[in-house]
Amino acid sequence: MTRIFLDTEFTGLHQRTTLISLAMVAESGEEFYAEFTDYDSSQLFPWLQEHVMPKLWLQNKLDFDRRPGGVYLMGDRSTIRKALEAWLKPFELIEVWADVLAYDWVLFCELFGGALHLPANVFYAPFDLATLFRLKNEITPTGKYQKDLNRFAFAGVSDQWQHNALMDARVEWLCIHKIETSHGS
Ligand SMILES: [Mg+2]
Repeated sequence: MTRIFLDTEFTGLHQRTTLISLAMVAESGEEFYAEFTDYDSSQLFPWLQEHVMPKLWLQNKLDFDRRPGGVYLMGDRSTIRKALEAWLKPFELIEVWADVLAYDWVLFCELFGGALHLPANVFYAPFDLATLFRLKNEITPTGKYQKDLNRFAFAGVSDQWQHNALMDARVEWLCIHKIETSHGS
């Protein structure tokens, strides 16, 4: 069993949203990062223009830390789905983890044509980092956005690239590692 951390960026918190980018980081170190060329640009709104679009490393031709064996590509949904299927294939059994994952998981499943078409080595249920934080009392809500936990601060990482899907997925990995080493797993 390999845990793989998923993060996506998408064009809005609503049902017709479309993928802008998708990252998966395996706890064993392999990583996959893709930027979509066919998202619905009519859905972009100022927050995304400010916080997400400038951090698309490939589209903006920015330098970033590429890991050996990492897969990094830009393409349409069909190209990215095929590349992701190939990347997922060598793993024996995969547990997908994500953070506040309701949108990420649906979009991940939709990329394959729905949850019934997920690759055979992907466990059917995803696991949520936010729920784990809540159970460990690292999150104790007191208002809609109050007493949430800054994941980047928790992981000890600069938030310069927060909302880049690959950086966010890497930080999920660091958070889980820290929870497990500080609370026991
Ligand atoms: Mg993100």
